[in-house]
Amino acid sequence: MEKLAGLSEESLNINQFQQDLLNWYYENARVLPWRSDPKPYYVWISEIMLQQTRVETVIPYFTKFISELPTIKALAGVEEEKLLKLWQGLGYYNRALNLKRAAQILVEEHQGQLPSAVKELMLLPGIGAYTAGAIASIAFGEAVPAVDGNVLRIMARLLESRADINNAKVKKEMQTLVSQMIFKEHPGDFNQALMDLGATVCLPNGEPKCDKCPVNTHCRAYKNGLTATIPVKVEKKARNIDKKTVFVIFSKGYYALRKRGAGGLLPNLWEFPNEEGYWTENQCRNFLDKMRILPEKIVPIKTSKHIFSHREWHMKGFFIIADADLNHSDFTWVTKEEMDNQYSIPTAFKEFIKLCE
Ligand code: SF4
Repeated sequence: MEKLAGLSEESLNINQFQQDLLNWYYENARVLPWRSDPKPYYVWISEIMLQQTRVETVIPYFTKFISELPTIKALAGVEEEKLLKLWQGLGYYNRALNLKRAAQILVEEHQGQLPSAVKELMLLPGIGAYTAGAIASIAFGEAVPAVDGNVLRIMARLLESRADINNAKVKKEMQTLVSQMIFKEHPGDFNQALMDLGATVCLPNGEPKCDKCPVNTHCRAYKNGLTATIPVKVEKKARNIDKKTVFVIFSKGYYALRKRGAGGLLPNLWEFPNEEGYWTENQCRNFLDKMRILPEKIVPIKTSKHIFSHREWHMKGFFIIADADLNHSDFTWVTKEEMDNQYSIPTAFKEFIKLCE
């Protein structure tokens, strides 16, 4: 594995770098709802929502979440069903469940407040080094780094490093380097400036906007024409593919749903009944028979795909108009309106929800 070089006068003029980056940030910072009032709670919620999710998607979710659950105490006491509904569409639902668990710990052990130290923050469920660094620096002014994929990419390009940025040891070393570069008077601004640079200028997949970059005079990959090949990322292994058959069953104005188990993927969320593998119409009829549901019409549904971080669901299905005994059934029967307003159904099923329009 390629080793990272440390910082030196020759590799980076830190003072000038800080000045160039921050001058740019103060003129170009993105206007975001959690920035105008960076309460620790707001920074925490926004950073958790932003994991794997774009800023534009997060903004309306953040605003609604904060208006419904304005404090850590309110989050600690929220009904799980309501919490999952607020999260519906953001994906990675464990993030929401961890928020609630962490809020309960904060209420029980920290008078409902977030601690300011990175080490203490990292003891809370769902908070890793990046999120802890972001909260500590932005909300509490602690001079600690917040290194995510964006910052790793910028650092690798600045230093012309060919080390694999997916490697845990390299990430740790990059964190140490950013700690040495951080502007100690305003660490939160420094970290947010790097975040904005990564999101708007030093872009992944495709051309970074180097001619508009405020730190291009410091960047070795730019100077040496290597921005297309740096950063180096050793690809993770391919995702597993799960084939599924989904049943959208409609009877007397109601749709059949069932609740997922408490463990594993998408815990405690609601879903359309589904089975592993691609089923034929005959297998579908047998399934309905076992469920004591009399089909009146069965229509195949076109394939849809949903990608999780480590697996993909490839789903076919059947839309079934049926005569079912709604009071004696393994399923929960809901109207479309209830589906929209009360039941948290993961985005994986969004093509099937559309069929219920
Ligand atoms: Fe990224 Fe280009 Fe700026 Fe270097 S000059 S940090 S590659 S945008």
